[in-house]
Amino acid sequence: MSGFLFNDMIFGPVKSRRLGNSLGINLLPTNRKFCTFDCIYCECGWTPEEETLKAELPSQSQICNALEERLLKMKINNQVPDSITFAGNGEPTIHPDFPGIVEDTLRLRAKYFPHAEVTVLSNSSTIHKDEIFNALNKVDNNILKLDAGLEATFQKINKPRSKDLSLDKIVQQLQKFKQKAIIQTLFVRGEAGGEKIDNTKPAEIVAWLNHIRFIRPRYVMLYPIDRATPAKGLEVVSKEELYKIADQLRDIRVKYSVY
Ligand code: SF4
Repeated sequence: MSGFLFNDMIFGPVKSRRLGNSLGINLLPTNRKFCTFDCIYCECGWTPEEETLKAELPSQSQICNALEERLLKMKINNQVPDSITFAGNGEPTIHPDFPGIVEDTLRLRAKYFPHAEVTVLSNSSTIHKDEIFNALNKVDNNILKLDAGLEATFQKINKPRSKDLSLDKIVQQLQKFKQKAIIQTLFVRGEAGGEKIDNTKPAEIVAWLNHIRFIRPRYVMLYPIDRATPAKGLEVVSKEELYKIADQLRDIRVKYSVY
């Protein structure tokens, strides 16, 4: 599999435009991607077919020990993180001990850097599970993916592995965060797998805005592609276009950031 992978369980801190000085936690294997989606633009490359990857996940205690070791070192070096961020080689919430790892992280944050925020970058595919929803409600920033207005486009862009997952199911669940959700949307057009894809078309934007209106998130992050993508026929949507889309968020009084 080609693509950019994080080689460590704990990585950074890295300078993030969104999160400032961000210390990353990768709950997934360090040598391959593990995800419930197979997004056409994923910087980690295509999602492997194998279903046996769970065995390669780091344990809760390994993660907790590695995180404490790094936070202690940062404390000694007076290196203060703005955010402790769950990100990495796939979808963090599929780790079977995700809720416990969130608890560990909150405890370690309070011990070493009480002013740092805890952030989770998630693709929203597991938020219908009570234990994941409850864990996410404990962190400061839930940055949750919503890349499409229409179901067909969701299927083409994000290519969910589970047939049970629909855009509508995700939208209904996102609304339950009651303004704690930060929505991230990547805008893209082009061709993948012989199909035309474009989530910037007027009908898409109308449907996407309806979802946003229903969810009432804390704010929305709008992005273009930033790195090499596994599908080769994709186009970077310009910042000007993203700002035009964002203007429509302003009309419905939803805050946003364009990246
Ligand atoms: S959800 Fe994220 S990690 Fe998973 S395929 Fe999409 S972009 Fe990649």
